Amino acid sequence: MAWKCTGSNSAELIANLAKHGIIQSETVATAMAKVDRANYVRDKAEAYVDAPQYIGYDATISAPHMHAHALQYLLPHIRLGGRVLDVGSGSGYLAAVLHHLVSSPSGTAGKVVGIDHIPELVQFSVDNLRNDGLGSALDDGRIVMIEGDGRKGWVQEGPYDVIHVGAAAPTLPEPLVEQLASPGRMFIPVGTDIQSILQVDKDEKGNVTKTKLFGVMYVPLTDRNPKTTF
Ligand code: SAH
Repeated sequence: MAWKCTGSNSAELIANLAKHGIIQSETVATAMAKVDRANYVRDKAEAYVDAPQYIGYDATISAPHMHAHALQYLLPHIRLGGRVLDVGSGSGYLAAVLHHLVSSPSGTAGKVVGIDHIPELVQFSVDNLRNDGLGSALDDGRIVMIEGDGRKGWVQEGPYDVIHVGAAAPTLPEPLVEQLASPGRMFIPVGTDIQSILQVDKDEKGNVTKTKLFGVMYVPLTDRNPKTTF
């Protein structure tokens, strides 16, 4: 599946993701089209390859088809003016796409909070977002990139309509469930040797349901190793 969607430019990559049924909505296609992946990778020659790419510090930017899957599953809970948490925000790519889904150029201001525990990656994501033209969203707080332990979430800005987790947790972190709005949805890889995406839904009354979606291979959600280098 992965390689089939590779394009020679951003528009072709997105068209291929749609052609193969991974992008299923115009809304996701339009938001992804606003974010050039070349601004979020180290090797720009490989920007439109549908594969993860190493970004340093034991981290990878996820493959475009994984970002597209995540957006599709989260879409029913993403709304203009909404609040989103992206745990393990890495390159900042998904924070950018989510920003275009919750904030509009005509003035509706949503909020995207990205959190990563590697300070160099937080700085990388901020630089990438600025290079991608999102400096004003960072300046006025529509996008906030935070250094911290994502397993604890970021209670200050919650609750969140949507939580995306970009690294695999051994078990579902309870603080993230608590910081989910009612209603709200989380997309999180869970597991160690064998990982699957768990969709965690909280309804209007606060009832939580968990649905296993499909098997995946993600970088683990870990304690920070201060020795981790590029
Ligand atoms: N979704 C991002 C990055 C995925 S790689 C992208 O596509 O660019 C997973 C990220 O999770 C890495 O950046 C890693 O630093 C981060 N991470 C791992 N454990 C973490 C933790 N406990 N708290 C916050 N971030 C963590």
